[in-house]
Amino acid sequence: MSNKHTISEIRHQLSLLLASYQTVNEEIEGAGITDDAKSLLRNSNLNLNQLLDDLDMNISPSLKNRKVFIQFAMRIEAEPVLNRLNAKQIYPEWSKGLPFLIYEAHFETLDLVIGIAGVDPKHDVDSIGSVPAAVLAQLAIANLGPKLIINAGTCGGFQSKDHQIGDVMIGTDYVAFHHRRINIPKMDEYGVGKYPVCDSSQLRKTLELKSGIVTTGDALDCSKEDEAFIKANGGTLKEMEGAGIGWVCSLSKTPLLPLKTVTDFVDHPADTAEQFFANYKVSVEHLTKDLVRVLQYLSANPKDQVWIRSV
Ligand code: SAH
Repeated sequence: MSNKHTISEIRHQLSLLLASYQTVNEEIEGAGITDDAKSLLRNSNLNLNQLLDDLDMNISPSLKNRKVFIQFAMRIEAEPVLNRLNAKQIYPEWSKGLPFLIYEAHFETLDLVIGIAGVDPKHDVDSIGSVPAAVLAQLAIANLGPKLIINAGTCGGFQSKDHQIGDVMIGTDYVAFHHRRINIPKMDEYGVGKYPVCDSSQLRKTLELKSGIVTTGDALDCSKEDEAFIKANGGTLKEMEGAGIGWVCSLSKTPLLPLKTVTDFVDHPADTAEQFFANYKVSVEHLTKDLVRVLQYLSANPKDQVWIRSV
């Protein structure tokens, strides 16, 4: 292991430890333990925080640079935010020969790289779906080492869950596949995936954002079988990329934050594509506004749980 990797691993372990201290701290509040024990815990917390700061500031200055990769599937989902962030297109070596569109921007204390799946050269449409999404996310992880990936985009919601068109929701718990039906012991669970996402509880509370569970399949429609999988796994935000990205994030333990806006209802008789085109403009406007709020929060809260690996 190189020095740089050792340092990031130590930093990573420290942040996990800090997170568990914080949880313990919250849990013992009012639990009738002595003041001495409470202050011991508080001090451990402070010391760990100090240690993390020292590591960031002195030992490895590169860790100060908080790189966030924001990933979209479609150009129309990303365009308003690219304008808002004054992002510039770049042509990195690692995306050569691939359809991916890559941009960079600086936002407060964050270094942002924005990736869009881009136009499929054979079919001349956006490369939506879980395969391009996983390839793009993995290339970004391997070449940029982002501290967080935000998967931003559109999704189908459910009227039965009181969703509204234009709602912006954070994906919590995990991202799962709903179309990988493999009726073999253990492979059935592999098919569903259930890759963890980051702990966004504080962020959601502060920004008053709604939440749901992202469920991914490579079809826009929803077959009876898909519907059964979605129900069985608690999915509420149906889209086509999240779990592909979740898989590669889980391999490298990169925190993943899904941020999705509702463009259509899965449980509505109208055609999904028609709903999508009627609604995407307004939904993407809302997504852009909330993405900027999320970035402001992330910039101001370098020690938030979001930065700690997905659990
Ligand atoms: N049919 C349109 C729009 C594609 S919608 C077109 O041809 O351009 C598919 C994209 O929006 C995917 O990237 C997916 O993640 C998201 N999406 C929105 N609503 C969806 C739904 N109900 N089911 C699956 N994906 C949905």
